[in-house]
Amino acid sequence: MRIASSPCERHLLPLIEHGIHLHIRLMPPEPARTAPRPAARNLPRNYALVLDVIRSPGRHHHRTAIEIFDETRARNPDVGFATVHRGLGRLVELGLIAKVELPGGAAALYESETGAHAHLRCRRCGAVRDVDATVIPEALAERVRRDADFVLDAAGATFLGVCRTCGGER
Ligand SMILES: [Zn+2]
Ligand SMILES: [Zn+2]
Repeated sequence: MRIASSPCERHLLPLIEHGIHLHIRLMPPEPARTAPRPAARNLPRNYALVLDVIRSPGRHHHRTAIEIFDETRARNPDVGFATVHRGLGRLVELGLIAKVELPGGAAALYESETGAHAHLRCRRCGAVRDVDATVIPEALAERVRRDADFVLDAAGATFLGVCRTCGGER
């Protein structure tokens, strides 16, 4: 979540300065066995291939349409970009994948994690990680609701910062 727009900024920055700690739980690297993925039935063969490309590295991977196209093409050279592009749109429509547009990101990213979650994005290397929607503590949400008449929503929020690889503090 980028705290840049004015009414929230005035209320949020003092809160953070006064030591509200954000306990961030990273999403587990592999899918929980109890949460089966939505079935992909009756998909055109090329769309099913695109879905498989997106799902194959596991959850919590975010890739651009171009990256997905490159990998799809590596598996089947006959698939064109237009097909991949249409396939991505259809898969999003069906709820089989999610499309995310992050602040500071040049291109939309696609991922197989369709549950509500927030993102951490490194300002330096652009790495994106998933965090679960409890990233905004109830006390902070309540304070913002009261002081700014604004309901914070962690689902879809993006926090910009610096990752450990790029020298972020531990
Ligand atoms: Zn980084
Ligand atoms: Zn994500």
